[in-house]
Amino acid sequence: MGFSESVLICDEVDPILGKILKDNGLSVTYEPAITPEQVLEKIPDYEIVVVRSRTKITADMIKRASKCKVIARVGVGLDNIDQDAAKAGGIRVINAAEGAMNAVAELVLGFMFSLARQTARGDRELRAGKWMKKELKGTELKGKYLGIVGLGNIGKRLGRLARALNMNIIGYDVVPIDEEFSKEVGLMKADLDTLLQSSDYVSIHVPLLDSTRHLFDAKKMAIMKKTAVIINTSRGGVVDEDALYDALKGGRLGGAALDVFEKEPAVGNRLAELDNVILTPHIGAQTREAQSLAANVTGEKIIQVLRGVI
Ligand code: NAD
Repeated sequence: MGFSESVLICDEVDPILGKILKDNGLSVTYEPAITPEQVLEKIPDYEIVVVRSRTKITADMIKRASKCKVIARVGVGLDNIDQDAAKAGGIRVINAAEGAMNAVAELVLGFMFSLARQTARGDRELRAGKWMKKELKGTELKGKYLGIVGLGNIGKRLGRLARALNMNIIGYDVVPIDEEFSKEVGLMKADLDTLLQSSDYVSIHVPLLDSTRHLFDAKKMAIMKKTAVIINTSRGGVVDEDALYDALKGGRLGGAALDVFEKEPAVGNRLAELDNVILTPHIGAQTREAQSLAANVTGEKIIQVLRGVI
């Protein structure tokens, strides 16, 4: 069955998405550099609107989207779409939850390796003319305790990868944790405080909600080991960056790696003053494989919604 709906793709996405939609009869407008003003102007003409991270779909836009049936995010988090406004307007909001799980989990492994051996620092110092061999004595990941907060798609993928390195996995989630996964990795389930007290690495994989905003504050950081490392690839607001800065500066934490920030782009973030920190520009899902998988999943889901299957 072919469809005749019109789709507005607002950000740069893998071409496979446009192909899937066109192959199913949809007419596709690809506007990867569209401005918010232009979205506001054009949105009334489209039944389907697709975004990645750059474009924010606001309540004002949704008010004008009189024909819109579906807003799709080629990614995981839905915080760039006003979901309440969409719901009120009877618009279905979908995402591609599975697309990024391996990409983000591998990034976390990279952060752990890099912090354990201080490769980013060694590289920085060597380029600046310093041979820091003696100072950069590292540690190994084998046998260390990895606390995973949030055992959804990404948290579980990370657990499986880290288990292969012979790390001990501790897990905390607000919903019951997948039993098969728990058995597979020998998961030690714990409440959040116990996880924080026991872990050498704490990796955060929860959505940004009212209940998770600043979940990692000064109090939580104070119960962690002085040598422990916080890794956040979830959403910036989950970690209180001021508290993190103070804990790292005061020697109350061993290090941190952040891919996401309270304010993005995070150029000029004062955490960059500290040596025991790695900062990356929200690249968790930025692999060719993840982008292509997310585009594929989004395309298929849009068709399924139009067919009334999901
Ligand atoms: P998911 O929905 O599969 O899993 C999230 C898990 O967090 C769920 O199991 C949920 O029960 C749990 N959770 C919710 N509130 C919690 C709380 N207060 N304490 C403990 N657990 C809680 O999501 P996912 O696909 O694994 O993604 C996780 C996070 O990663 C999201 O914030 C997402 O936006 C982010 N993400 C970032 C990037 C990036 O580029 N850095 C890419 C993809 C996803």
